[in-house]
Amino acid sequence: MLYIQKKNEPEAVIKWKRKYKGTPPFETIPEKEKHLLRDSLLKEQGNICCYCCGRISANDSHIEHFHPKSKYPNLSLEYQNLFASCNGGSYKKHCGQYKDNNFDEKKLISPLEPDCADHFIFDEFGEILPADEEDIRAEYTIKILNLNAPRLKKAREEAYWAALEEDEDLRNPGSEARRQKLIQKFNTISEDGKQIPYRDLILYFLRKG
Ligand SMILES: [Zn+2]
Repeated sequence: MLYIQKKNEPEAVIKWKRKYKGTPPFETIPEKEKHLLRDSLLKEQGNICCYCCGRISANDSHIEHFHPKSKYPNLSLEYQNLFASCNGGSYKKHCGQYKDNNFDEKKLISPLEPDCADHFIFDEFGEILPADEEDIRAEYTIKILNLNAPRLKKAREEAYWAALEEDEDLRNPGSEARRQKLIQKFNTISEDGKQIPYRDLILYFLRKG
């Protein structure tokens, strides 16, 4: 998980909400505005999932309600409550669709928390673990989003080895300057606006040294 800096909600969505009397339920948003909303979220996140950091596009993602819309109808179109999440594969094995209505506000770590990434560590086999084994929020978040689903672990492991193959220095940057340069590389959004998938794991290994 990586910190998401929310930007502005699309103007057309704001306008449509203004016209609606009261709080509009999510289901009432017209297709055009819904697409604008989804595209805005995807762009904000550099086309990676809000929870697992896997690559997503408009065709294989959904608008995720951090506070589930069934329990918090007033937040169902609140921009701060919306993210773009992967679908967890055909069987909804992880992330937003897997989480569904499970939600404990006190425990679930949000990508809007600037230090959200610090709650987690990884191993070289793609497993995600709480950084502090007594961190009940990290443990809950991994469980409720199923962040150790086998397909996800495999994808992380592959991303790690692919990055290593591309840049041997990743494992041992040698100097602090080189390490910082690599961190900067993985923190930079490419020209097409896309972030590198699973860069939460790669940044973790780089920072760990
Ligand atoms: Zn995901």
